[in-house]
Amino acid sequence: MWDIEQNLRDVRRRVALAAQRVSRDPDEVTIVAVTKAIDVERIMLAYKLGLRHFGENRVQEAQAKVTLLRSQIPTSPTAQTDIHWHMVGHLQTNKAKAAVKLFDFIHSVDSLRLATAISDCALKLGLMVPILLQVNISGEATKFGFSAEDVPAAVSEIACLPGIQIRGLMTIAPIVADPEDARPILRRLRELRDELRQAFPALRWSHLSMGMTDDFEVAIEEGATLVRLGRAIFGSPR
Ligand SMILES: *Cc1c(COP(=O)(O)O)cnc(C)c1O
Repeated sequence: MWDIEQNLRDVRRRVALAAQRVSRDPDEVTIVAVTKAIDVERIMLAYKLGLRHFGENRVQEAQAKVTLLRSQIPTSPTAQTDIHWHMVGHLQTNKAKAAVKLFDFIHSVDSLRLATAISDCALKLGLMVPILLQVNISGEATKFGFSAEDVPAAVSEIACLPGIQIRGLMTIAPIVADPEDARPILRRLRELRDELRQAFPALRWSHLSMGMTDDFEVAIEEGATLVRLGRAIFGSPR
Protein backbone atom coordinates (compact mmCIF):
# COMPACT_ATOMS: atom_id res chain seq x y z
CA MET A 1 0.00 0.00 0.00
CA TRP A 2 0.97 3.61 -0.32
CA ASP A 3 2.48 5.37 2.64
CA ILE A 4 1.16 8.78 1.67
CA GLU A 5 -0.47 9.29 5.06
CA GLN A 6 2.71 8.48 6.98
CA ASN A 7 4.86 10.47 4.54
CA LEU A 8 2.64 13.49 4.86
CA ARG A 9 2.64 13.36 8.65
CA ASP A 10 6.43 13.27 8.52
CA VAL A 11 6.64 16.12 5.98
CA ARG A 12 4.30 18.34 8.02
CA ARG A 13 6.36 17.74 11.14
CA ARG A 14 9.60 18.56 9.32
CA VAL A 15 8.07 21.72 7.81
CA ALA A 16 6.98 22.86 11.28
CA LEU A 17 10.38 22.12 12.83
CA ALA A 18 12.27 23.93 10.07
CA ALA A 19 10.01 26.97 10.46
CA GLN A 20 10.44 26.94 14.24
CA ARG A 21 14.22 26.89 13.93
CA VAL A 22 14.10 30.32 12.30
CA SER A 23 11.09 31.63 14.27
CA ARG A 24 8.75 31.50 11.30
CA ASP A 25 5.08 30.61 11.49
CA PRO A 26 4.71 27.18 9.80
CA ASP A 27 1.46 28.47 8.25
CA GLU A 28 3.56 30.77 6.05
CA VAL A 29 4.74 27.66 4.23
CA THR A 30 2.42 26.03 1.71
CA ILE A 31 3.11 22.49 0.59
CA VAL A 32 2.65 22.09 -3.16
CA ALA A 33 2.37 18.37 -3.84
CA VAL A 34 4.05 17.72 -7.18
CA THR A 35 1.99 15.01 -8.86
CA LYS A 36 3.86 14.34 -12.09
CA ALA A 37 3.63 10.60 -12.80
CA ILE A 38 1.17 10.23 -9.90
CA ASP A 39 -2.27 8.87 -10.73
CA VAL A 40 -5.58 10.48 -9.84
CA GLU A 41 -6.36 7.90 -7.17
CA ARG A 42 -3.27 8.83 -5.17
CA ILE A 43 -3.84 12.54 -5.73
CA MET A 44 -7.36 12.05 -4.38
CA LEU A 45 -5.92 10.34 -1.31
CA ALA A 46 -3.58 13.30 -0.76
CA TYR A 47 -6.58 15.62 -1.11
CA LYS A 48 -8.47 13.63 1.52
CA LEU A 49 -5.46 14.02 3.82
CA GLY A 50 -5.87 17.77 3.55
CA LEU A 51 -3.58 18.84 0.71
CA ARG A 52 -5.09 21.56 -1.47
CA HIS A 53 -2.15 22.70 -3.61
CA PHE A 54 -0.91 20.47 -6.40
CA GLY A 55 1.83 21.00 -8.96
CA GLU A 56 2.42 19.60 -12.42
CA ASN A 57 5.32 20.18 -14.78
CA ARG A 58 3.68 19.34 -18.11
CA VAL A 59 0.52 20.85 -19.56
CA GLN A 60 -0.55 17.72 -21.39
CA GLU A 61 -0.24 15.42 -18.38
CA ALA A 62 -1.97 17.98 -16.19
CA GLN A 63 -4.91 18.43 -18.55
CA ALA A 64 -6.38 14.96 -18.03
CA LYS A 65 -5.75 14.91 -14.29
CA VAL A 66 -7.02 18.38 -13.54
CA THR A 67 -10.28 17.71 -15.37
CA LEU A 68 -10.78 14.36 -13.66
CA LEU A 69 -9.97 15.70 -10.18
CA ARG A 70 -12.24 18.70 -10.60
CA SER A 71 -15.12 16.38 -11.51
CA GLN A 72 -14.50 14.15 -8.46
CA ILE A 73 -14.19 16.84 -5.86
CA PRO A 74 -17.46 18.20 -4.51
CA THR A 75 -17.97 21.87 -5.22
CA SER A 76 -19.83 24.39 -3.14
CA PRO A 77 -22.14 26.99 -4.67
CA THR A 78 -19.74 29.77 -3.72
CA ALA A 79 -16.40 28.25 -4.66
CA GLN A 80 -15.99 26.25 -7.85
CA THR A 81 -13.36 24.08 -6.25
CA ASP A 82 -10.92 24.40 -3.38
CA ILE A 83 -8.11 22.63 -5.21
CA HIS A 84 -5.31 24.85 -6.52
CA TRP A 85 -3.08 23.83 -9.43
CA HIS A 86 0.43 25.15 -9.84
CA MET A 87 2.46 24.93 -13.04
CA VAL A 88 6.04 24.28 -11.93
CA GLY A 89 7.74 23.08 -15.12
CA HIS A 90 9.07 24.82 -18.22
CA LEU A 91 6.20 26.19 -20.28
CA GLN A 92 6.34 26.60 -24.03
CA THR A 93 4.75 29.77 -25.38
CA ASN A 94 2.36 27.80 -27.57
CA LYS A 95 0.96 26.08 -24.46
CA ALA A 96 0.26 29.33 -22.66
CA LYS A 97 -3.45 29.30 -23.41
CA ALA A 98 -3.94 25.74 -22.14
CA ALA A 99 -1.87 26.56 -19.07
CA VAL A 100 -3.90 29.66 -18.24
CA LYS A 101 -7.09 27.59 -18.39
CA LEU A 102 -5.71 24.83 -16.17
CA PHE A 103 -3.51 26.47 -13.58
CA ASP A 104 -4.18 28.96 -10.81
CA PHE A 105 -0.52 29.88 -10.42
CA ILE A 106 2.43 29.67 -12.82
CA HIS A 107 5.84 29.35 -11.10
CA SER A 108 7.99 28.99 -14.16
CA VAL A 109 7.87 32.23 -16.15
CA ASP A 110 11.33 32.39 -17.67
CA SER A 111 11.09 34.86 -20.57
CA LEU A 112 9.37 38.09 -21.55
CA ARG A 113 7.92 36.27 -24.52
CA LEU A 114 6.23 33.68 -22.32
CA ALA A 115 5.00 36.33 -19.89
CA THR A 116 3.47 38.25 -22.80
CA ALA A 117 1.77 35.13 -24.13
CA ILE A 118 0.30 34.32 -20.70
CA SER A 119 -0.91 37.89 -20.28
CA ASP A 120 -2.55 37.94 -23.72
CA CYS A 121 -4.36 34.64 -23.08
CA ALA A 122 -5.43 35.73 -19.62
CA LEU A 123 -6.90 38.96 -20.97
CA LYS A 124 -8.91 37.09 -23.59
CA LEU A 125 -10.30 34.82 -20.86
CA GLY A 126 -10.97 37.72 -18.51
CA LEU A 127 -8.44 36.43 -15.98
CA MET A 128 -5.52 37.81 -14.02
CA VAL A 129 -2.86 35.13 -13.56
CA PRO A 130 -0.49 35.20 -10.59
CA ILE A 131 3.02 34.23 -11.65
CA LEU A 132 6.51 33.79 -10.30
CA LEU A 133 9.68 34.56 -12.21
CA GLN A 134 11.97 31.57 -12.43
CA VAL A 135 15.58 32.48 -11.71
CA ASN A 136 18.53 30.29 -12.62
CA ILE A 137 20.62 31.27 -9.60
CA SER A 138 23.16 28.49 -9.99
CA GLY A 139 23.74 29.39 -13.65
CA GLU A 140 23.61 25.74 -14.73
CA ALA A 141 23.32 25.51 -18.51
CA THR A 142 20.62 22.84 -18.25
CA LYS A 143 18.28 25.02 -16.22
CA PHE A 144 15.64 27.44 -17.41
CA GLY A 145 15.17 30.84 -15.87
CA PHE A 146 16.37 34.42 -15.92
CA SER A 147 19.89 35.03 -14.73
CA ALA A 148 19.89 36.96 -11.45
CA GLU A 149 21.34 40.01 -13.24
CA ASP A 150 18.55 40.02 -15.83
CA VAL A 151 15.67 39.85 -13.36
CA PRO A 152 15.29 43.60 -12.59
CA ALA A 153 15.01 44.52 -16.29
CA ALA A 154 12.54 41.67 -16.81
CA VAL A 155 10.43 42.85 -13.87
CA SER A 156 10.18 46.38 -15.33
CA GLU A 157 8.74 44.98 -18.54
CA ILE A 158 6.61 42.16 -17.14
CA ALA A 159 5.05 44.32 -14.44
CA CYS A 160 3.40 46.36 -17.22
CA LEU A 161 1.58 43.37 -18.72
CA PRO A 162 -2.13 43.67 -17.87
CA GLY A 163 -3.06 39.97 -17.60
CA ILE A 164 -0.51 38.83 -15.06
CA GLN A 165 0.54 39.69 -11.58
CA ILE A 166 4.11 39.10 -10.38
CA ARG A 167 3.96 37.49 -6.93
CA GLY A 168 7.57 36.46 -6.34
CA LEU A 169 10.43 34.25 -7.46
CA MET A 170 11.07 30.57 -8.03
CA THR A 171 14.26 28.56 -8.36
CA ILE A 172 15.39 24.98 -8.66
CA ALA A 173 18.53 24.41 -6.62
CA PRO A 174 21.24 22.11 -7.97
CA ILE A 175 21.21 18.46 -6.95
CA VAL A 176 23.75 18.12 -4.15
CA ALA A 177 24.65 15.33 -1.76
CA ASP A 178 24.31 17.54 1.32
CA PRO A 179 21.32 19.94 1.38
CA GLU A 180 23.52 22.46 3.19
CA ASP A 181 25.36 22.89 -0.11
CA ALA A 182 22.14 24.25 -1.64
CA ARG A 183 21.81 26.91 1.06
CA PRO A 184 23.80 29.68 -0.71
CA ILE A 185 21.57 29.33 -3.80
CA LEU A 186 18.36 29.40 -1.74
CA ARG A 187 19.61 32.34 0.30
CA ARG A 188 20.56 34.23 -2.87
CA LEU A 189 16.97 33.91 -4.16
CA ARG A 190 15.67 35.47 -0.95
CA GLU A 191 18.24 38.29 -1.16
CA LEU A 192 17.26 38.92 -4.76
CA ARG A 193 13.60 39.08 -3.70
CA ASP A 194 14.52 41.58 -0.97
CA GLU A 195 16.38 43.73 -3.53
CA LEU A 196 13.39 43.63 -5.88
CA ARG A 197 11.05 44.57 -3.05
CA GLN A 198 13.14 47.72 -2.57
CA ALA A 199 13.34 48.48 -6.27
CA PHE A 200 9.68 47.70 -7.05
CA PRO A 201 7.72 48.45 -3.87
CA ALA A 202 4.38 48.63 -5.68
CA LEU A 203 4.49 44.91 -6.51
CA ARG A 204 3.55 42.14 -4.08
CA TRP A 205 6.67 40.06 -3.43
CA SER A 206 4.82 37.50 -1.32
CA HIS A 207 6.28 34.24 -2.55
CA LEU A 208 9.51 32.32 -2.75
CA SER A 209 8.98 28.96 -4.44
CA MET A 210 12.03 26.92 -3.51
CA GLY A 211 12.77 23.62 -1.85
CA MET A 212 12.09 20.11 -3.07
CA THR A 213 12.30 16.70 -1.38
CA ASP A 214 16.05 16.89 -0.79
CA ASP A 215 16.36 20.48 0.39
CA PHE A 216 12.99 21.75 1.61
CA GLU A 217 14.03 22.19 5.24
CA VAL A 218 16.97 24.41 4.29
CA ALA A 219 14.68 26.27 1.87
CA ILE A 220 12.19 26.97 4.68
CA GLU A 221 15.00 28.22 6.89
CA GLU A 222 15.92 30.58 4.04
CA GLY A 223 12.39 31.90 3.61
CA ALA A 224 10.50 29.58 1.23
CA THR A 225 6.73 30.11 1.19
CA LEU A 226 5.98 27.41 -1.40
CA VAL A 227 7.80 24.09 -1.17
CA ARG A 228 7.35 21.76 -4.13
CA LEU A 229 7.36 18.17 -2.90
CA GLY A 230 7.05 15.02 -4.96
CA ARG A 231 8.99 12.06 -3.56
CA ALA A 232 8.69 13.20 0.06
CA ILE A 233 4.92 12.72 -0.19
CA PHE A 234 4.34 10.08 -2.83
CA GLY A 235 7.52 8.06 -2.32
CA SER A 236 10.09 6.99 -4.86
CA PRO A 237 10.68 5.49 -7.30
CA ARG A 238 7.48 6.14 -9.15
C1 LIG B 1 9.45 17.07 -9.87
C2 LIG B 1 9.58 18.46 -9.42
C3 LIG B 1 9.55 18.79 -8.06
C4 LIG B 1 9.44 17.75 -6.97
O1 LIG B 1 10.62 17.03 -6.87
P1 LIG B 1 10.93 16.01 -5.67
O2 LIG B 1 12.40 15.99 -5.61
O3 LIG B 1 10.29 14.71 -6.04
O4 LIG B 1 10.33 16.60 -4.44
C5 LIG B 1 9.65 20.12 -7.73
N1 LIG B 1 9.78 21.10 -8.65
C6 LIG B 1 9.81 20.82 -9.97
C7 LIG B 1 9.94 21.93 -10.94
C8 LIG B 1 9.71 19.49 -10.40
O5 LIG B 1 9.75 19.22 -11.71
